[in-house]
Amino acid sequence: MSTMTKQKMPLWQKIFIGLILGLATGLIVGESAAALKPIGTLFINLIKMLIVPLIFVTLVSGIVAMEDLKKMRRIGMKTFAIYLLTTAVAITIGITFGIIFEPGAGISLEGAKAMTAKEAPALVDTFLNIVTKNPIASLTNGNVLQIIFFAIMLGVSINLAGEKAKPVADFFNGFSEAMFKMTHIIISYAPIGVFGLMAWVSATYGIDLLMSLGKVILVVYAACIVHVIITFGGTIAFVARLNPLKFFKGIVSAQSVAFTTTSSSGTLPVTTDNVVNNLGVSKPISSFVLPLGATINMDGTALYQGVCAIFVAQAYGIDLTMADYGTLILTATLASIGTAGVPGGGLIMLSMVLTSIGLPLEGIAIIAGIDRILDMARTTVNVTGDAMVSLLIAKGENELNTVIYNGDNSSNSISLEPNEKNTIKI
Ligand code: ASP
Repeated sequence: MSTMTKQKMPLWQKIFIGLILGLATGLIVGESAAALKPIGTLFINLIKMLIVPLIFVTLVSGIVAMEDLKKMRRIGMKTFAIYLLTTAVAITIGITFGIIFEPGAGISLEGAKAMTAKEAPALVDTFLNIVTKNPIASLTNGNVLQIIFFAIMLGVSINLAGEKAKPVADFFNGFSEAMFKMTHIIISYAPIGVFGLMAWVSATYGIDLLMSLGKVILVVYAACIVHVIITFGGTIAFVARLNPLKFFKGIVSAQSVAFTTTSSSGTLPVTTDNVVNNLGVSKPISSFVLPLGATINMDGTALYQGVCAIFVAQAYGIDLTMADYGTLILTATLASIGTAGVPGGGLIMLSMVLTSIGLPLEGIAIIAGIDRILDMARTTVNVTGDAMVSLLIAKGENELNTVIYNGDNSSNSISLEPNEKNTIKI
């Protein structure tokens, strides 16, 4: 223990302290603490700056490193299947919790403002839209699925071009190393950014509002915790046969950033850093699985949509049939795929889920008031799910450095010195 004093405090502890201090500041100082928001916005802007170049260059270099096309296809299929499966489990947990704990009992939704449903885009258009007509526009607009598509095509083509494209491959490798370094630098600012965001949230919402809708909040949080511990922890222990505690310890920084920024896409650089440096997932796997997950894998969002649909049904005294539950699972899974990994993305898609089983959209107005609090939990689950799947795929593909995984996760104390753990051989 005496060595503890000499060591730098791990980043996750600093982030946690920032979170608690921010919460306390917002509650004690009250509304004027909302003025601290720019400190958080600065952090969000910094991580947003990373997203597009990080996804693009690390994915290209990841695909180039994979070489084997069959292997790539296999990884893609597996990733997609696990994403869908865990999402369906998540929404089932959400519905079950909603039925058992009745968050909507005793709440009157009268007087809530009417809202209009968001049109669900046709499935065929969603898929067609992934093929970008202009890759540069996709990069500037930050359209993640289009960037992923173009990066995969480019990576595969670089490999097919062989020797002649070697300089391009080297360029992307070097660029991706630089982006990883930049990520390291920026996330060392996380404790201060998290402090600012947390102070703003608690100052804005205050304890009163939190109490009146406390039951929905409690049910969503409890269901999230169960999904994370049982579904994720269980999968890691029994399918990947790894110690789940190491996993949770390794991604606590990403979870804290997800919790406070409520953006899976925004958290992506931190998730990537944690998964590679603390869990030992290879860069090719993380650079493929994580950006895809940040875009389409939203377990927390699906779970939340399940709880909220049940909440609205109960508040209006509407009985749901078995067929309604089936439709709910299907639409919430699809809606969570279509949800953007940005703050409040899930609330927008909730209208589509409610419409699918004929529930009144006015319920959304009430939920909107506490959405930020719910978003914090669901984004944390979304990010944890992405990290879990990357671990599972890496384990299955023999691309997991178990020495790093079983180590002490000490790279949580970010160091800007060259770090051996950054250079993972696959
Ligand atoms: N904020 C969530 C995320 O970024 C999406 C949502 O609103 O459910 O993962």
